[in-house]
Amino acid sequence: MRNKEVNFRNSWHDKDIAQILVELKTSAQGLSQDEVKKRLFQYGENRLPAGVRMTLVQIILHQLLNPLIFILVLAAIASVAIGEVEDAIFIFLVIFINSALGAYQEFKAEKSASALQQLLKIKARVLRNGKGKEIPSEEVVPGDIILLESGIKVPADLRLLEANNLEIDESFLTGESIAAKKRLGTLKNQCGVPERSNMAFAGSTVMNGRGRGVAVNTGILTEVGKISRNVTESKSAKPPLVQRMDKFIAQIGIFLLVVSLIVGTLLYLQGMELIGIFFVVVALAVSAIPEGLPVALTVALSIATKRMAKRNVIVRKLNSVESLGSCTVIASDKTGTLTVNEQTAKIILLPDGSLFHVAGQGYNGNGNVNSEKDPLRPVLYSERSELYRICRTAVFANEALLVNNGETWEHAGDSMDVALLGLSYKLGLVPEEMCAGENTVIKIPYESQNKFSAAICHNEKVNIELKGAVETVLDFCDSMLVNGIPSPLLRENILALAEKTAMQGFRVLAFASGESPNLAYKDNYEAKDLPPLTLNGLVGFIDPLRPEARDAVDLCRKAGIKVIMITGDHPSTAKTLAGELGISAEDLPVITGKMLENNSPSSSLAFRNLVASSTVFARVSPTQKLEIVNVLIEKGEFVAVTGDGVNDAPALKRANIGVAMGSGTDVAKEVGSMIVVDDNFSSIVAGVEEGRFAYDNVRKVIYLLISTGAALGILFISSLLAGLPLPMIAVQLLWLNLVTNGIQDVALAFEGGEPGAMKRKPRPPSERIFNKSMIRQTLVASFTMATVAFGFWLWLNRYTSLEEEYARNLVLLLMVFMQNLHVFNCRSERISTFRVPISRNYILIFGVIAAQGIHILSMQLPFMQKILRIEPITFTEWGYILLLAIPILLVMEVYKFFVAKREKALLN
Ligand code: ADP
Ligand code: MG
Repeated sequence: MRNKEVNFRNSWHDKDIAQILVELKTSAQGLSQDEVKKRLFQYGENRLPAGVRMTLVQIILHQLLNPLIFILVLAAIASVAIGEVEDAIFIFLVIFINSALGAYQEFKAEKSASALQQLLKIKARVLRNGKGKEIPSEEVVPGDIILLESGIKVPADLRLLEANNLEIDESFLTGESIAAKKRLGTLKNQCGVPERSNMAFAGSTVMNGRGRGVAVNTGILTEVGKISRNVTESKSAKPPLVQRMDKFIAQIGIFLLVVSLIVGTLLYLQGMELIGIFFVVVALAVSAIPEGLPVALTVALSIATKRMAKRNVIVRKLNSVESLGSCTVIASDKTGTLTVNEQTAKIILLPDGSLFHVAGQGYNGNGNVNSEKDPLRPVLYSERSELYRICRTAVFANEALLVNNGETWEHAGDSMDVALLGLSYKLGLVPEEMCAGENTVIKIPYESQNKFSAAICHNEKVNIELKGAVETVLDFCDSMLVNGIPSPLLRENILALAEKTAMQGFRVLAFASGESPNLAYKDNYEAKDLPPLTLNGLVGFIDPLRPEARDAVDLCRKAGIKVIMITGDHPSTAKTLAGELGISAEDLPVITGKMLENNSPSSSLAFRNLVASSTVFARVSPTQKLEIVNVLIEKGEFVAVTGDGVNDAPALKRANIGVAMGSGTDVAKEVGSMIVVDDNFSSIVAGVEEGRFAYDNVRKVIYLLISTGAALGILFISSLLAGLPLPMIAVQLLWLNLVTNGIQDVALAFEGGEPGAMKRKPRPPSERIFNKSMIRQTLVASFTMATVAFGFWLWLNRYTSLEEEYARNLVLLLMVFMQNLHVFNCRSERISTFRVPISRNYILIFGVIAAQGIHILSMQLPFMQKILRIEPITFTEWGYILLLAIPILLVMEVYKFFVAKREKALLN
């Protein structure tokens, strides 16, 4: 009941707009900057309480809740029980340092992830002091006038002042899956939220049309704010790779438990006392569990994320970091991704075939228009009524802005529309002046599924202006203008003219207009409301290819990645540009949306064959884009798809990697798994390369940890089997695993990418990190290290008279040395260690020196000597042990030599 009362008081749908504007002390022109400041202070920022983020405490707890820690704590307690208090202190110290390090890394990764999220903040378009402006949505205050267009997120609860084909998806509030149609007008008070068609609610998405509204509630007072307590934003903090590794570690743990039980039973039967057995078991577990893995992986992934961000790729879902590397197909947009999306009108074609050239470049009105027949004399719009009519359409059916500030030009909005305003200036016409005298203009906004936009001006007569794709516009026409006189429409001629122009790489737009004495006034016009129109001409635009796109396409070919162009543009334009980029071969046909339609359903064999037969798809609708992606995925491809519009969302979602454009709509960014900040195709390719680097690095880190862990495990078991004493005590194992190697594995995660990464075929997405080659190299490396260490231990025990503790001291140093050298083996799976440049990872050099240095230092420090049971050795001994460690380098060099040879043989 109470709730209802609150609702009642806060209701905005049942009042007049005038009354609301008064109540909110605002106007249709928006607030002033000063007023906004005051209100920001009064109402607070327009945001909901932050979602659940991992706090530092949680992160630390998360580090401690780890089976290994339990084992170690048990070991520490047991140490105290037998009077080895120092051991216990050391164990706790290691636990503490390791957890602190892990927590710090996790915290840092978490923080840099949320810093990247900041870049994706939702923007709102507002009207302030009568001027349009883009602001962060947090700065919206009650009373602000908000502009809506398809693809954006509604920043606050709005009462609508204008709704033009406006459809809004508010399923998260109402559960209604169909977008709600919005209209103006005052509603009854009893209307529930789903019925409030004159309102737009914060957090919902505009699916279609344009609109404008006044912000009535912001932040926690919005409808979504009221329920935000229930919508706990759950965020999985761990990337899947790390989760998989956690599982992997758990499996190793279980395996070790079984081995330990067997070993324990054996030892018991041999008559060892229980406490001793316990330490053996703990030592085994500690030696073989790669406890440093989660930390090292988190580091590797967050480094990769940062490196990608530097190359303009922001990864929203961490699993894309690794999966990008297995991408086999990139399905790209044309406009903006492969081209710079700086449209410039270059030619005008009138229905009678007269041709005009337009000079100039960029978003401005500088340059002349010349007739082909008289190239020296500038042509003005007044010269031919066709030109005048084209200009009218260009100016009215336009949602962009191009203003001349003397020297400079300011522009905003759709690039085609900006280019058209530029063309009007060039023809001697100032858009604002033309608009000044006209009455109400109602628009059918451009939506990519319609491929046209229109304006309807209610003067004494009703004037209709329409522009769009040639075939679409022709469907509206029944005549064409020739020297000012409407003549029969020669449809085929016009289509041929457009085709010829498109083949030269122009993007072609057709212009039509018409009058109607009796078209009734409506809020929302649809295509079917329009009377037959007259075609006035065509305009050809050039949108230059991105200079780096060609090389990027080339790089993809070498990397075994197929590039596909999916565009809404004309087939001939698409074909020409695809040819220039090297995306399509001469003889491949362009598949059009029509052809796809004729071969539907998309599950049919014909449709699949059609998709497989080409790399260029033109005049494709968003639904067909989704179908193409579907077919490719079902064929087993791993597909990255680019998109920017609302309609691209399903395809982005379906794709293995959805790539949203930085300039794209909020919706696209929300569903994309990564975002390309500069819209550039070559950034996507850079992302793929970084993805491959990241995957390689993860493999390197895992290889290092598992092989050194396994070496220790083998050394232990073989010593037990040979009836030798244990080669190391528990604290020494901890030292090796968490301190010396712990420094190295994190340093290895910083390894720079190997240049050959883009020359390999994509890895199969289902490939496990532990594939054959990984298992092979791990086995070779760990057996080599274990054999050397075991041999040394055997020799020390049987053939020298050294004390056991001193012998352990030497074996420990040998292990540190082998780890120091082995980390260099891990830098490349294929290339000789000596050919991997040091410059690719200075941190690693530092890490190795630090690991060795810390160990040497500990041999000198009485405190550490006591804990680790180590002591100083002579320089000669040090040198001999270093020599003993060298085989691990040599063996792996030989191994790599054969791997390289085999790979070569496989390639030929
Ligand atoms: P692309 O895949 O190249 O981005 P779009 O879907 O943006 O293609 O555009 C498809 C077609 O729609 C274009 O070839 C053009 O004919 C038409 N078109 C694009 N922008 C506009 C606009 N602002 N007004 C009218 N028609 C447009
Ligand atoms: Mg486009």
